This record gives sequence, C-alpha cells and structure tokens, in this order.
Amino acid sequence: MGPTLAEKLKAKGLETVEDLLFYPPFRYEDRSRFLPIQQFREGQSGALLAMVASTRTRTWRKGSQLLFEAELQDEQGNRLLARWYNAKYLASEIVPGLSLALFGKAEYDFQAGRIFLAHPEFEVLPDEGDPELALHMGRIVPVYETVGKISTKQMRRFMKGALEAVTELEEALPNDILKRFRLPKISKAVTEVHEPPTDMNLEALNSRRSPGHWRLIFEEFFWLEFGLLRKQREVKRAPGIAYQLTDQIRERVKQMLPFKPTAAQKRALKEIAQDMAQPHPMNRLLQGDVGSGKTLVAAEAAVIAIENGYQVAMLAPTELLATQHFLSLQKFFRRLGYPVALMVGSQSPKEKSQIKKMIAEGLVKLVVGTHALLEKNVEFHRLGLAIIDEQHRFGVLQRLFLRQKGLTPDVLVMTATPIPRTLALTIYGDLDVSVIDEMPPGRKDILTRHYAQSASKTVWDAVRSELKQGRQAFVVYPLVDDSEHSPDLKSAQKMFEMHAEKIFPEFRVALMHGQLAASEKDSVMQRFKDREVDLLVSTTVVEVGLDVPNATVMVIENAEKFGLSQLHQLRGRVGRGVHASFCFLVTGKQNEVSEQRIRAMVESSDGFKLAEADLEIRGPGEFFGTRQSGVPQLRFAHVLKDREILEMARGEARSFLEKEAGTAVMSSAEKYLEENWQRRYGLVQVG
Ligand code: ADP
Ligand code: MG
Repeated sequence: MGPTLAEKLKAKGLETVEDLLFYPPFRYEDRSRFLPIQQFREGQSGALLAMVASTRTRTWRKGSQLLFEAELQDEQGNRLLARWYNAKYLASEIVPGLSLALFGKAEYDFQAGRIFLAHPEFEVLPDEGDPELALHMGRIVPVYETVGKISTKQMRRFMKGALEAVTELEEALPNDILKRFRLPKISKAVTEVHEPPTDMNLEALNSRRSPGHWRLIFEEFFWLEFGLLRKQREVKRAPGIAYQLTDQIRERVKQMLPFKPTAAQKRALKEIAQDMAQPHPMNRLLQGDVGSGKTLVAAEAAVIAIENGYQVAMLAPTELLATQHFLSLQKFFRRLGYPVALMVGSQSPKEKSQIKKMIAEGLVKLVVGTHALLEKNVEFHRLGLAIIDEQHRFGVLQRLFLRQKGLTPDVLVMTATPIPRTLALTIYGDLDVSVIDEMPPGRKDILTRHYAQSASKTVWDAVRSELKQGRQAFVVYPLVDDSEHSPDLKSAQKMFEMHAEKIFPEFRVALMHGQLAASEKDSVMQRFKDREVDLLVSTTVVEVGLDVPNATVMVIENAEKFGLSQLHQLRGRVGRGVHASFCFLVTGKQNEVSEQRIRAMVESSDGFKLAEADLEIRGPGEFFGTRQSGVPQLRFAHVLKDREILEMARGEARSFLEKEAGTAVMSSAEKYLEENWQRRYGLVQVG
C-alpha cells in the first residue's frame, strides 16, 4: 500500500504485517446465503443482494432530521425500501444502478403501510466478473472496524495480501498445551479469523468461540499471565529492606494518629506492614474511593520506614496536590517531630538546592513533591519507601530508583480509580492490592439529582440557597471555550460570564481551566480554599484529590458528555465536610449510554459498584484507557467477557512456570515473551 494508507494504519497501531494479522474483525456476515426480498417480514433480519432503483432525501420529524431512502430491487424484481436516518451524506454514495449487499432488519411503517429496512449496513459491490467479488461475497465475510477512513473492504484486501505474504507464523504456545486443549496451530487460527471457511458456524465466529478465536484469546491471556507471574517472582526474590516492627514503633504509629482508623484502614495497614517486614521490595497498590482516607494509611507506613532510619518520598501529579499532601502530613507528623519538606517546580533555585542538601544529608525524613523530585541531582541519604499518588507514573519511578544505588525501596501506589478486585489481580498481576472499602465515620451522603437543561433555574436556585448559607459551589463544563464543532456543549469561559453577570451577580465567581498558567490555577484554587470565592466555574481540572470541606455543591453541565468514573471523581470534590452536600447532573441531548451512566450515578455513590457498571457500559479497552496507562491493550481477549478463559490461562501459566523451570522450553518461552510481547503489549513494569 502507499504511504498515505500506511500512515493511517500506523496511527491505529498497525505498523507491521504481523500487526495486521493480529487485528481481528469485530463481526461476521454470512454472505454465502442471501434472502430474497419476498422473505423479509416485519422483524426479520438478514442479508440481501439488490440493485438501487431510485433514491430520495426528505425531511422528517417536522424538518428536524433528514432521511435518506433507497428503493431496492432484487433479481426476482421484488422491491423493498431501505431507510437511513440523518444520513443526507449517503446521497452521493448510494446512486441508482449500483449493486449493494445489505444487512439489516425489516420494520413496519404504519403511515406508508409497508415494511422497510431500518438503517441497514451496506456495501457497494464491485461489478460482476471483478475478481474482487470473491473477497466480499459468496462466503462468510469479516467486518472490520473502520480505521481512519479505511473501509472494511480495504481491510479485507490488506488481510488477503498479508495472509498470502506470510506462509508460516511462529508457533510459540507450548506443545503440551496445544495438545491438551486441542488448539489449532497459530497459522490456522489466524487464517480462520480473517477468512473463515464457509461451513464454519456463524454463531461461533460472532461470539468469538470458534477454535481459532478461542486459541488466540487463550494465548493472549497466557502470555499476559506468564509475564506478570514471572515479574512478580522476580520482584519477590530481589533483596529489599526488612523493616523492624517493634512495640515501640507500633506505639509511635498510634501516637501520630489524629483519629481512630476505620476497620478498612487498619486492614490495609496490616497488609502493608507485613510486606514491609519482608526482606524483599514491596509493590503494593492501595485502592480506595475518593475521601476514604488513603493518606492516613500512607502516613502510617511512612512512620514505620522513618522509625527504621529510612527516608520517605511521596510523589503527586500536580503542585496543588503535592502541597495539600505536604500540609496534611506536616500536621500528622508534628507530634512525632519529623522534619517534612516540599519540593515543587515553582520553588526558586536557591530554595530547591537547600532542600536537596537536606535530603542528601538525611535531615529531612519525608519529602513530598512533584516531578521536581525526579530531577537528576536529587539524592537521598537513605530512601526506603516511595509513595505515589495516582497510578499512572510507573516509568517515572524507575528513574528515581536507578539513582538510589544499592537499595531497593518499597513502593506503595495509591489510586482512587476503583478497579473490581478480580480484574485488579489480573491487570496488576505483579502488584499486590489492598482495598479501603469503607468511608471514615460521620461522612454525609451526597444527594445526587438529575435535571434536564430546561430545568436549570431549579438548579441555580438550589445553588443560591447554599451560597447564602456561606457554602461554596463548583460548576463544571466540558469545554474551555465555545466551539463551533460542538454547538450543543457549554463552555466554562462563556458560562463564567453568565454566572458572574447574570445568574449570581451578588456572589464572588471565579474561572478555572487547564489553559490558565500553572501559577494562576494555583492562585484561583487557593482563593477558593480560603473562601474568597463562592462559586468556581471550571472544566474538569478540579477533578483530582482536591479537599475543600466547605464546598457542598457540585453542578456538572452537559453531564452526558462525561465518563462515569470522571463524574464520580468530580462528585467526590464535595461531601468532605460536616454539611450535607449535593451533586446536580444537568444534561442536554442524551443517548442510551449516557442515560445509563446518569442513572448509575443517581442510584449509587459506591465507587466500586460504579466501576463495575462502567466496565459493563464501556468495555475494558476504554475503561483502562490507552497503552500509556501501563495496562496492556489486548487484541482478541476481553477481560470481562472471557473471564473463564482467563482463569484457565492463568492456571496454565502458573503450572508451566513450575513444571518447566530451568528447561529449554522455558528459555524459548522467555525469549518469545521478551521479543514479542514486551513490544506489543508493554507489560506492566514496576520498580
Ligand atoms: P483520599 O486520599 O483517600 O481521597 P484522604 O486521605 O484525603 O482521602 O481523607 C479524606 C478526609 O478524611 C481527610 O480530611 C482525612 O483527614 C479524613 N479521614 C481519614 N481517615 C479518617 C478516619 N479514620 N476518621 C476520620 N476522618 C478521617
Ligand atoms: Mg487523597
């Protein structure tokens, strides 16, 4: 293919012939059998071959939508109408005289008194006698997701070329497993996925349970688990610090506590302390919903490290959060007399070099910082524990440790992104997981309500009544500024003017968004924290970790545009004080998925329940985000739908590791993993 096409594929991560072959279709159509028009009844779905007799575009629903319709005719001369909603653009694509393959469901139009195909999938067919015809017709045909305007037909062409070019793929699954599970060889499996034999069960293909699919799913999980288990063993065997846990140290931990820890906090600390006592490095993920009190648990772990004569580093993603952690830890540690320092980018060089000196000499026991902590010339005297707030910065850690010669510090990663436990174990297979699943006592529930945009006045009245009582409020928008591309979306900039001048002129209103300079963002936030601002109009930059107990209202406009976890995180900005709090979700035009999300938000405030719902609504690919998040993007396997295959693969990987330890089979498996899977999936790496 030419460079333009190649570039488009590359943007989707498809760079090599191998990448192509491992890009599965998402659906199959049986085009070996077409139904004649005669057989279409209301509710009947199926494939159809027909010629376009005529077309027209007309308005619908009082002119609010445009319909595109095509009158189809099959070989017997029977006719059927096909209708596409909001699809004026089709007029240039579907023209009279063309042959189409269509796939859809017949519905009944009461007004016209006839059936029609509602929004069918279609493909324009090449002329008869064209050799291409065999690629798209007369067999079970794979349908690929459109990649950057590359059509499914083009994809089929590329796949054909790739399959012809590659005669033999390397078989990497251990022979014993292939035999026991009666799995097809890799070449056969890949061919089956892209060019399934015509007698193959369509249902099996579409549910991804044909022998080829099963093998590829199993294989993906097998190598994932193999890699994770290996990593875990390696880490567990490496030499690390074995912390002492004496009664005196326990006493010091108790002394620090400003309040009684919850049962969940106690359990998490126990798990952490046990890890720290091992002579191997700890790699533990501490999960807990926003406000569940992770910082306190981290502080307890820090006391253990410090009492053992080590230093602690805590990394936060932004200056604001670093400062917030610094202030809480300073408060916690005052009673113990530990010197605590803050290190952020905005400090003067002089200030920084002073702090660096104190860190190097061991005078500072705990330092909280942003990226600034990772600068080359920051040297610890004796770093023993690293705490990272939010999970997305694994790579960064390695840089920190590389410089700490001879010592492998323990690592505690804190995250407020709740991941269902079974998944966490799989995805973070090389991390141990502790969960805080209980809120500190006295936490008020947040009342969540859904309003349509037409009911905004009710919302602003409720906000006003809170502001009058001295409380503060957030209003969040999806855009920074108005955009002609999204006329339906409101922006923080425009609405800030509305709020300041028209809706809340009697209150102090401020604006906050990601395009402001860092120093300005900090100063706006500081003013909000100091109660110099009543209403903060913002984009989602207020999302993470912010603690303003006097804020009791969170309004999210165009809430239909936000993801579930984001909505939940935003809601977590309120309900942190003694007053009752509210979250108002205001929506514009909704679709089915956004309705599900809003319903989930109104019904539940449990982050883990919402995460499960989110996974179901979105699927794991999107849920976990991109490769950069450190989570592998699987191509065939689906962590939720294929859970049972996952369990099997995990078991097999474990026994393979035990049985084949030290053999030639093992070293070739290890070589394969390193050469292929590290690149393809960027297996999670920590420490
Ligand atoms: P997270 O980081 O998990 O979002 P924080 O650690 O910021 O939550 O804790 C949220 C708030 O709850 C803080 O103000 C903290 O001081 C308070 N808190 C934490 N643990 C307890 C507890 N056991 N009892 C009472 N308040 C607590
Ligand atoms: Mg926190």
